Amino acid sequence: MEPLTQRSKTVSDKKMTFAEKLYLPAILGGMRITFGHLFKKKTTIQFPEAKRPFAGVYRGRHVLKRDEAGRERCTACGLCAVACPAEAITMVAAERKPGEEGLYREEKYAAVYEINMLRCIFCGDCEEACPKEAIFLTDRLVASEYQRKPFIYGKELLVEPADPEKRIDVSERQTPEVLAFKKDRQHKHNN
Ligand code: SF4
Ligand code: SF4
Repeated sequence: MEPLTQRSKTVSDKKMTFAEKLYLPAILGGMRITFGHLFKKKTTIQFPEAKRPFAGVYRGRHVLKRDEAGRERCTACGLCAVACPAEAITMVAAERKPGEEGLYREEKYAAVYEINMLRCIFCGDCEEACPKEAIFLTDRLVASEYQRKPFIYGKELLVEPADPEKRIDVSERQTPEVLAFKKDRQHKHNN
């Protein structure tokens, strides 16, 4: 009968030799391969104890930054939400009240700020759009969850701790050029 494909193989019905019936040579051959791998360089790492270094351009979980005085930098201008191609960002703006100058840097702040991590494609457009150096992507991972709801990250997960010791370092992502551009008072959105 004509084979349907070119990949068919003729099965041999050759009788096994005495050595093959012992299976010993085959077992020893397998052990040789196994022990050979023991002395080769390992391609795996012991995660989570050991972690591979991230590339400098890696974009992971976001952080909402505070300024040097610990005040939230975000002014709820909405530029990040407009720039977001995945429509992952939502916010509710509020007016700063007298006495809250130590909490919020600008007169307007985000009372609610949420990012849907299931929608986010970690493109970094929100970071680029922000005129206040308020949002950055970091090398931190978004934790896996069993439900959808925990993937909606609110301010409690996004705003960095006020403690200077626990701030999230984003210096790798603040290139001098971007920093200079965002401080240039000639541009209206920097004022
Ligand atoms: S990284 Fe991109 S997709 Fe994610 S929130 Fe920012 S702009 Fe939207
Ligand atoms: S662009 Fe920056 S300042 Fe404006 S809402 Fe987004 S994070 Fe806040």
